[in-house]
Amino acid sequence: MAYQTINPYTNKVEQTYPNASDADLEAALTAAHKRYLEFRNAQPETRSAALHQVATLMRDEQHELATTLTREMGKLIGEAEAEVALCADIADYFADHGPGMLADTPLTTAAGPAYYAKQAVGVLVMVEPWNFPYYQIMRVFAPNFIVGNTMILKHASNTPASAEAFADVLRRAGVPDGSFANLFIDYDQVGQAIADPRVAGVALTGSERGGAAVAKEAGANLKKSTLELGGNDAFIILPDADWDLVRQVAPQSRLMNAGQICSASKRFIVVGDRYDEFVEFMKQEFAKVQPGDPMDPATTLAPLSSARAKDKLQKQVDAAVAAGAHVEYGNTPIDSDGAFFQPTVLTGIDRDNPVFNQELFGPVASIYHVDTEEEAVALANDSSYGLGSVVFSQDADRADRVSRQLEAGMTFINRSWLTAPELPFGGVKNSGYGRELYELGLNAFVNEHLVLAR
Ligand code: NDP
Repeated sequence: MAYQTINPYTNKVEQTYPNASDADLEAALTAAHKRYLEFRNAQPETRSAALHQVATLMRDEQHELATTLTREMGKLIGEAEAEVALCADIADYFADHGPGMLADTPLTTAAGPAYYAKQAVGVLVMVEPWNFPYYQIMRVFAPNFIVGNTMILKHASNTPASAEAFADVLRRAGVPDGSFANLFIDYDQVGQAIADPRVAGVALTGSERGGAAVAKEAGANLKKSTLELGGNDAFIILPDADWDLVRQVAPQSRLMNAGQICSASKRFIVVGDRYDEFVEFMKQEFAKVQPGDPMDPATTLAPLSSARAKDKLQKQVDAAVAAGAHVEYGNTPIDSDGAFFQPTVLTGIDRDNPVFNQELFGPVASIYHVDTEEEAVALANDSSYGLGSVVFSQDADRADRVSRQLEAGMTFINRSWLTAPELPFGGVKNSGYGRELYELGLNAFVNEHLVLAR
């Protein structure tokens, strides 16, 4: 597939990028491996200054960097600026804390003095999606740069300018050559890279289909992989929920980034007798958003990332409705060249509905009604996904009990989902495996090297 910038607000092709050749890939792997051999003999602290400089440049150039995101994948300019700020925080976090996380760990054994060291493993392949074009790269880049792993990136084919902008920040921040290379490679070349003996592992964020394909290559070549895939996260409102809090967060937990977030709340499960009130509330809130130019700070509904994404979502909603789902609000076309999808509230999705177990990657909320906490947990877990979840209850013990029963990698109590450098991110089941961010993210690709003396 061609790497292209198509502005989803205007639907105009702004730039097409030539694919990298096999020789380009080989040159990048050679440079990355050479740099890894240097990094693994240097202290991690020696890389912190460059990572802090990345953060500084991102903060200094926040609006300009955000503009690239908005023009390329359509997100609201304010959300794009927030993404850049988050990336700067991730860079600072690993620059400050990464070296300490890599300290040797002494072991207690009668066999003699022992410890394990956390060491770099080599070159990594990163395969990343378009929904948070900088953040997805930074989640892997920052920890692994401190570890001493080097990286080559295959970004989504619709976010090449963002990938280039990220690489350019690293260059200007003084990140040494070979540490990171953005390459416009195709799927076969991703496979070639994974098979290369200099490559130690692959980190992918994306769909189940992409994840399975890349993990298969990794498995065939005995390489480690981490997968951050989709989600169909439940937002459980127990009868004793604080409704002021629910009202504050529920609409945005679905609508942020035009609904294109793996860990966004997608299935709202109301326990007890306030279901109708919640449906009415969501309808009113979804009706308030204003589509428009995502560069205009007054706009509150961005286009989806591409016409293709919009068509895919429309087909899913059509299939849901054909199978009996009820459109409480939305699902009418927005008159624009942009890839807008009107925020939509669906109810009446039963287990046989094709979308019951599908991720709807856009501003579509599904609302369910159950009578008991046990039913809510069973419904939340009745999914092949297991990424995040939200529980609202004013009884802390009850909220904790429910959280522990959820098959999810993350649960947020009385608040919306959140990502931050110090919080591990990832899921279970078809949402993938492995964690990014926090120390767990840094540990993903290290050699825990045991040393035992006599
Ligand atoms: P895709 O899996 O299609 O694309 C993601 C990346 O994988 C792209 O760079 C894509 O390249 C690449 N890719 C896809 N198939 C292959 C393959 N066979 N070999 C090599 N590379 C491949 O995902 P979507 O574009 O559909 O992205 C959205 C998905 O990502 C959603 O399901 C969403 O939930 C998930 N996601 C998960 C997150 C998480 O942290 N768990 C966070 C954000 C999104 P190309 O663009 O060239 O096709």
